[in-house]
Amino acid sequence: MGILPAEIGRIVGNVMQIGLRTVLPPRCGGCGAVTDTVHAVCADCWIGLRFISDPLCACCGYPFELAAEDNAGDGILCGECLRKKPAFDRARAALVYDDASRDYLLRFKHGDRTDLTPLLSRWLVQAGRDFWADADIILPVPLHRTRLLMRRYNQSGLLAASLSRHTGIGWHGTVLRRLRKTRSLGGLGPSSRKREVGGAFGVDDRIAQRIGLSGARVVLIDDVLTTGATANACARILKRAGAMHVDVITVARVVR
Ligand SMILES: [Zn+2]
Ligand SMILES: [Zn+2]
Repeated sequence: MGILPAEIGRIVGNVMQIGLRTVLPPRCGGCGAVTDTVHAVCADCWIGLRFISDPLCACCGYPFELAAEDNAGDGILCGECLRKKPAFDRARAALVYDDASRDYLLRFKHGDRTDLTPLLSRWLVQAGRDFWADADIILPVPLHRTRLLMRRYNQSGLLAASLSRHTGIGWHGTVLRRLRKTRSLGGLGPSSRKREVGGAFGVDDRIAQRIGLSGARVVLIDDVLTTGATANACARILKRAGAMHVDVITVARVVR
C-alpha cells in the first residue's frame, strides 16, 4: 500500500511547520520583539501585565488589596458575593482587565491573531490551577452563529481546545448554545447586562446526555469577566441541565 494523498499533505505540512519554527525566531506575544522562548512575552511586556494573585475572593476571584492578617486564609468572600452568591461556584482570571490585557484580547478576538492562543492558554492553565484536578469537561462561552461567521472563529473555543490539550480534560463546543444574539455588553450597567443575557443561552439536551453533563464538574471559558452576568447566565443554564459544579476561567477580569 502506498501513502495516501492526505498523508502526504500532512507530512508536507509537518515538515513546513518544522521549517518555519527553525527559520523564524520566537517572538514576544506583546510587542513582537524576538525572544528566547516560544509563546512567551518579553521582560518589558511582562512588567506591563497585571497578573492576579492571592488573596482573592474564594468565589468570584476578586483580588483583595491586602491580606488582612486577622482574616487571612481560604474561603473569604468579597462584599458582592456575600450579598448574593453567583450561580457559578468559582471564577478565576489571569489578568486584571486594563489597557495592556485589553490589547491582547482585542488582537486575539478581532485581529486574527490566533497565534496568541498558546500564550493565553498558558496563563489560563495557571489561573485555573485549583480546578483541573477534579474537572470533567471544559466548555467555551458560545458566540451567536452570525457573530461566529463574521469572526470566523470563537476565541473561547480556541482557548478551550488548547486547555483541553494541556490538561487532558475533554472539551465540547456546541452543548452550550447561544440562542439569540445579544447586544454588545460594553457600556451597559449590571442590571442591563443581566437583562440582556437572560435567556440568551441554552443547552442541547441530546448532546448533554451523550457527554454526561448531568453531575459533571464544568470549567467554563470566556475572555473577560466584567459584572459576571454572562458567566452567571451560562452557569444557571448548565446547572438547570444537571451540571453539579461550574467554575469559570477568563483571561482578564474587571477590578474596580
Ligand atoms: Zn514584548
Ligand atoms: Zn466575590
